[in-house]
Amino acid sequence: MRPRILFPLFAEATALSGIGSRLGKLVTKIAGPRVIDLLWHLPSGIVDRSFSPKIAEAPTGQVATITLQVDAHVPPEVARRPYRVRCHDDTGSLSLIFFRVNTAYLNNILPVGAIRVVSGQIERYDDEIQIAHPDHIVTVEDRASLANVEPVYALTRGLTNKSLTKAISSAISRIPNLDEWIELSYRNAQGWGEWRESLIRAHAPECEADLSTASLVRRRLAFDELLAHQLTLALVKDRLQQRPAPVLLGDGTMRSRVRAALPFELTQSQLTALAEIEDDLPREKPMLRLLQGDVGSGKTVIGFMVMLAALESGRQAAFMAPTELLVRQHAQVMGPLAEAAGVKLAVLTGGDRGNSRRVILDRLAAGDINMVVGTHALFQESVKFRNLAMAVIDEQHRFGVHQRLALERKGPGLHMLVMTATPIPRTLTLTVYGHMDVSRLTEKPVGRLPITTRAIPLERLNEVTDGVCRTVEQGGRVYWICPQITESEATDLAAATDRHAALARELGGQVGLVHGKMPALLRQQTMEAFAEGELKVLVATTVIEVGVDVPEATIMVIEHAERFGLAQLHQLRGRVGRGRAPSSCIMLYAMPLGNAARQRLKILRETEDGFRIAEEDVRLRGSGDVLGTRQSGIPLFKLADLSAHGDLLAAAHDDARLVVQRDPQLNSSRGRVLRTLLYLFQRDEAIRLLRSG
Ligand code: ADP
Ligand code: MG
Repeated sequence: MRPRILFPLFAEATALSGIGSRLGKLVTKIAGPRVIDLLWHLPSGIVDRSFSPKIAEAPTGQVATITLQVDAHVPPEVARRPYRVRCHDDTGSLSLIFFRVNTAYLNNILPVGAIRVVSGQIERYDDEIQIAHPDHIVTVEDRASLANVEPVYALTRGLTNKSLTKAISSAISRIPNLDEWIELSYRNAQGWGEWRESLIRAHAPECEADLSTASLVRRRLAFDELLAHQLTLALVKDRLQQRPAPVLLGDGTMRSRVRAALPFELTQSQLTALAEIEDDLPREKPMLRLLQGDVGSGKTVIGFMVMLAALESGRQAAFMAPTELLVRQHAQVMGPLAEAAGVKLAVLTGGDRGNSRRVILDRLAAGDINMVVGTHALFQESVKFRNLAMAVIDEQHRFGVHQRLALERKGPGLHMLVMTATPIPRTLTLTVYGHMDVSRLTEKPVGRLPITTRAIPLERLNEVTDGVCRTVEQGGRVYWICPQITESEATDLAAATDRHAALARELGGQVGLVHGKMPALLRQQTMEAFAEGELKVLVATTVIEVGVDVPEATIMVIEHAERFGLAQLHQLRGRVGRGRAPSSCIMLYAMPLGNAARQRLKILRETEDGFRIAEEDVRLRGSGDVLGTRQSGIPLFKLADLSAHGDLLAAAHDDARLVVQRDPQLNSSRGRVLRTLLYLFQRDEAIRLLRSG
């Protein structure tokens, strides 16, 4: 349960005085529904009100605070014209302009003859100096109540900076004093203040530098967030590694038989990764390792060999893929290898029902099957293993903590290898996989030809279509990816349908179409028909799956390539260039090409290195937005900015690891305050790991 001391922060923002339901909605839209969300909505700018010129010297466009005398109220002659209040000082005259006014209110705060201090942006209109809707109007005695520097917040339509600032001040008054969770020696070395004070100061910037990610206050708050995140990962890791692992001391016989049966030699990169993995297996600690490798780098065979290591020790192994199609494809590749090694391989997907399923389950439970390839169906309660020791998880970006724990229950202490083709830059690996060891495949299998990548304007669509037809006539196969024109799937679909129709006019029934709105079975059948060569052209929205392997496909056409992200283009291109024939990727773009899109296409033409592309992606987009954060599993931080706070991430990682090593249940005095930190950042799932431990 969340500690009491945090209750005020987790109250609805509307519980704050002065926030009614209208303001509440706006505030929720820009910051979030709760008090804490307001506090984490940090200023993006400042207004300096200390500049107090005379009217004649007030520069247009600047914010100025001017002392003046009210001369007259001039209501508009026609509706929709503004209400004016004429004023002067000893250097000139100035009008305060109001659209939609409460006249009584204005007369009250700006009585004729009175001296007032008015602050706002200076404008000039028909040679007249004006301030429209001043931010502040106060008496001379109250001049001091105007802060010299005010924070400026990101706003949403209908929300003024003034009302948001007020709401945030009210939230600030609720910040409790919390015990320090940062090691004091580290905090002092960094020059940071305590949490509450830092948060308050973050909302009271005094100069531009205070807004920078490099400011001490912002770094402290970023560290808190990163520490909560890394601590969560460390606890997950601790939980997964709580039980001793089955020691896998296979004699290598199966592995060498498979090596001999492979139609190729393993690359140096594959050998290195395999050695790193195999080094984890004879230990009593469960392996928790990520294998990162670009599309086509040959991860599957590594996963397979690693499973063999378990089998050689008389244990079972499971390989999990995200879709039935991929499962089927993996099973097809592994089938002959399994045979060569004498492995009893089974396939289990959600589609398996009834008797055949029961037979598989019985044989798995009896240990009569020693290797299984399947989908999430492997998680089901009814699936029991005799002695599962190794799980290989392929392309599961959203493979969360719960799933990991569920899997671990099927084979206590089992070793896990997670494989991904999402090229996450080194700087971000910690944030997603901070709890895992990482191996990387950095080279492609030998003999793989480079992919010729070209950017061609859409005006030359006909030439491209002709080229595709020629390729098909010569027996080749082609992917044609259709654009994301809008957010609407319906429009995307229309584009794909039209393209399919146009290509079918040239090539008849050899052209297939897959999209997200089509029944899964039909989609799967269509993809299989393409894989088997009944279809020569596959028109698709972006649903074609990561991992599908059709070595015969040699052309990838991406229509409206300018609309795709860098990582996505790279993933799509990786569908070709997998066979012996030279391949090409044609990026069709619409003019005019924006600067960012031009850069993306340029990078694609320059390199096929997924890691380099990922780094460029961070550079072009900023880390918060890399790869489509959702699909890559990179968390979105509110206070930390990974492009600026990489050093803090590393420090948080080390700190979290030490904490969990010494105090895995977070029971020490620092452990207890760290629990508060976890609650503060809503890492409640991490706390659940503790309690059930
Ligand atoms: P990914 O890393 O994208 O999962 P795959 O494991 O599907 O890649 O491998 C892509 C293709 O490369 C497969 O057809 C596979 O048989 C082949 N392959 C894997 N390793 C090698 C190698 N060392 N030499 C040649 N081909 C290889
Ligand atoms: Mg794969």
